[in-house]
Amino acid sequence: MGVVEGLCSSLQTLWESRQSAGLDGYRLFRFRAKGLLEAKRTAGDHWETILAYCGGWIEGVGKCGASPLVVGEHETCPVCRKLVCDREGCGYCSEGCPAHGERIGDAQRRREARQGAAVPFARR
Ligand SMILES: [Zn+2]
Ligand SMILES: [Zn+2]
Repeated sequence: MGVVEGLCSSLQTLWESRQSAGLDGYRLFRFRAKGLLEAKRTAGDHWETILAYCGGWIEGVGKCGASPLVVGEHETCPVCRKLVCDREGCGYCSEGCPAHGERIGDAQRRREARQGAAVPFARR
């Protein structure tokens, strides 16, 4: 797939979710790679990932590759400012981010709670 084609499909995805993504708030955009777009609100701001795909690895499943991850629809990691994959068991944001490990731990605990492990607060 050509770079231009990749750019167009990325922008198409973003355009479709422009409202939830709050695109009006962004002033500067940069296209990093196929399916990866960053933006900032002001020139002095940091770059935020606004469109991405998941580069995570799910234990027992393999490469995640969930796509697209869109700002506003997906959580932005407070630590590394990458988009967080919401796929079960993944929760990937970026390589080596400390928040990712914590997120995996949380998901693991939730899963255990659902499976009926002795977690009192899981009962409603
Ligand atoms: Zn992170
Ligand atoms: Zn993922």
